[in-house]
Amino acid sequence: SSDLYCNFLNHGKTERECCDEIVNRIEKEGYIELQNLISHNKKLNKGDKVYSVCMNKSIIMFQIGEKPLTEGLNILGAHIDSPRLDVKQNPLYEDGGISYLDTHYYGGVKKYQWVTLPLAIHGVIVKKDGTTVEVNIGEDEDDPVFFISDLLIHLASEQLEKKASKFIDGEALDIVVGTIPFLNSEKGKEDKEDKEDKEDVKRNILRIFKEMYDIEEEDFISAELEVVPAGKARDAGFDRSLILSYGHDDRVCAFSSLGAMLEAKKCLRTTCCILVDKEEIGSVGATGMQSRFFANTVAEVMNLTGDYSELNLRRCLANSFMLSSDVSAAYDPSYATSFDKKNAAFLGQGMVFNKYTGARGKSGSNDANAEYMAYIRNVLEENQIIYQTAELGKVDAGGGGTIAYILALYGMNVIDCGIAVLNMHAPWEAISKADLYETKRGYLAFLEKAGM
Ligand code: MN
Ligand code: MN
Repeated sequence: SSDLYCNFLNHGKTERECCDEIVNRIEKEGYIELQNLISHNKKLNKGDKVYSVCMNKSIIMFQIGEKPLTEGLNILGAHIDSPRLDVKQNPLYEDGGISYLDTHYYGGVKKYQWVTLPLAIHGVIVKKDGTTVEVNIGEDEDDPVFFISDLLIHLASEQLEKKASKFIDGEALDIVVGTIPFLNSEKGKEDKEDKEDKEDVKRNILRIFKEMYDIEEEDFISAELEVVPAGKARDAGFDRSLILSYGHDDRVCAFSSLGAMLEAKKCLRTTCCILVDKEEIGSVGATGMQSRFFANTVAEVMNLTGDYSELNLRRCLANSFMLSSDVSAAYDPSYATSFDKKNAAFLGQGMVFNKYTGARGKSGSNDANAEYMAYIRNVLEENQIIYQTAELGKVDAGGGGTIAYILALYGMNVIDCGIAVLNMHAPWEAISKADLYETKRGYLAFLEKAGM
C-alpha cells in the first residue's frame, strides 16, 4: 500500500539505508543470507529463498523455482541510489563567520533546485579502527536541518542573466552547518594574534562532531555522507492521488519489485530481484550493475542447487527474462513541447514500457526484441494489467539510460519498464498511487507467469 511505500522512502534515503530496510523485511519472510548457507555447507532446494548483499549497498534475492536454473530466471531489477549531494573528503571550512560542508553532486541534478531547501545528512563515517558511526540528522522534528544559500533577488540582476546550467555553480553547493565561534579561556590571548586564520566557527563545529559522533576532522576521509532533502514523503493533491517525495527514482520500482518478489508464489522458474547501486552515475563500481557481483551470485546459487558449471551458468543467464524496472518521465503539460504526446507516459495510466531508451538516436539503449515485447504484452493482457508504452521525451530533447543494456550482455531478453514520474530528479518528485499499485501487479504477473 502507499503507506508502506512512504515508510520505505522515509527510512531509505540512501542506498545503504534501503539495503538495511530490505534485509530486515526479507529476513522476516524467510530469506537466508547466501554466505550463511555456503559456510554451513547447506544446499538450496525448490521453494528456498536466498539473498546476498554487496558492500551494504546492493542486494540480490532469489526464490528457487520448480524448473532447473539452466532454463533461466525471471528477473526484476531496479536501482536504489538517487541523485543527491555527497560530502567531499576534505569538506569542512569557514568563511565570513559561517561554517560549511563542501559537496560534490551525485547523478543528474539541476543545481538551482537544491538551494534554499531544508536538507538532511545521511551516511556513515568509518574510523581507522573499523568502527562505523551512522549519521542521520535533519529528519526528526527536533533535529537541526541544513541548507544552501542563494543570492537575494535584490542583488541578483547579474545572476539572473546567466543561463540555468551556470546559474548555480557546482562549487557553490556547500551546506551551511554553523555560525557560533569556539570559546575557551585561551581565546582572549589568541584573538589578538592572528584573527584571520582562527576559523573559530569551524573549530566549534569540530567540537560538536567530537561530542555527537566522537570523530576528528580527518575521519571525513573515510566517510560517505549524503545530503538529501529533509522531510517525509507526502500525499499530494486534494484527491491525494499522488505522492510527493525525494527519491522515487528508482525506489518506487525497487519497492514494487520487492513487493512482487515477496508475493510471488509457486513459481516454475526461479525468481530473482536485483536492487542495485550506482545507476545514476553509470552503473559503475563494485556495487553497480556492471559489477561481476550479479554473475558471481548466480554462480554461487547454482552451485548450491548442485547444477553449477560454467556452461550451465551461461545457459541460465541467456535463458533468463528480465524487466529492467526504472522510472519513466511523466507527460508534463507545462512543458508539453518536450514530449511526443503519442509516445509519452501519463500519470495514472498504468505500468510504463520503454522498448528503448537512449539519447540522440537511441545511443546507449537496450532496444528490446519485438518478439519479447509481444510475449510480455500477452502476459500482461492475460493478467489484466493496465500498461502504456512511452519514450522519455522528444527525440532531440535529450535522453537517459538504465541498467537494461548490462543484463542484455548475457544474451537474455530485457525490456525497460516502470512507473511515470513528474519532475524526475528534482529534490521532490511525484508519482501516482494508481501506477504504483498497477506496476506491482504487473511485476507479480511477470514473475509468476513469464517463461511457462
Ligand atoms: Mn532511474
Ligand atoms: Mn535517474
